[in-house]
Amino acid sequence: MTQAGLASRESTAIRCSACGGEMRPFLETRDYNRDVSAEPYRYLRCIECGLASLDNVPRELGPFYVPGYHMLPSTADAIEAGVAHEQYKIDLVRQFMPSGSLLEIGPSWGAFCLLAKRAGFSVEAIEVDPACCDFLASRIGVRTICSRDEAAALEEDARRLAGELRDAPRLSPAAGDEPGSGLDGVEAWAERAHAAVFVARAGLERERDLTVREAVELEASALGEAVGPAAVADIRRRLERALG
Ligand SMILES: [Zn+2]
Repeated sequence: MTQAGLASRESTAIRCSACGGEMRPFLETRDYNRDVSAEPYRYLRCIECGLASLDNVPRELGPFYVPGYHMLPSTADAIEAGVAHEQYKIDLVRQFMPSGSLLEIGPSWGAFCLLAKRAGFSVEAIEVDPACCDFLASRIGVRTICSRDEAAALEEDARRLAGELRDAPRLSPAAGDEPGSGLDGVEAWAERAHAAVFVARAGLERERDLTVREAVELEASALGEAVGPAAVADIRRRLERALG
């Protein structure tokens, strides 16, 4: 390599995606797993945190998922055996997010999806393999978009959600706007929808506070008791007991 070549390689050195540290050559291997390709694969490792990552990620991953790549479990016991290997992943997620909506892209037959469902998440998936899509929908019970184009699938999902938000009470019309195309369009729409939900929730909380205050004042004037903040239902019960 020439000096100029070395310099340009150094200036575009890959940084660690976790800590920003310098990545150095770690090991080189090939696809012994499925033997799809004889290409050498170069792994780098971060000198700061030790994270290893693949330097030459193939541009097209589809050919690596040969027919029969995903071994679908045939019995309930086999499903549980597969699920056991994924437990650490949902444990990790729950450290940061105890519940909510979860979209898995490329879930195979859905071991992680199943654990996420059991943990109380509302789970959806985007998967390319038709047999896996059938399995996810029928055996795992997860709404699945069967698509090779994740961005297009996300757009479709965003359009569906926007349609639901369009009819939701109290939300500003921005939440129901048609999402733009591509990942940028979906991201911009998601920000608008999130902001609209945030504003609506703040409005609901203000109304709830007002209702509680009115109930507390009503109780105080009806019963002659000064009371602190309480749930509206508790105040109603106390009033019913005292007045009924
Ligand atoms: Zn690092």
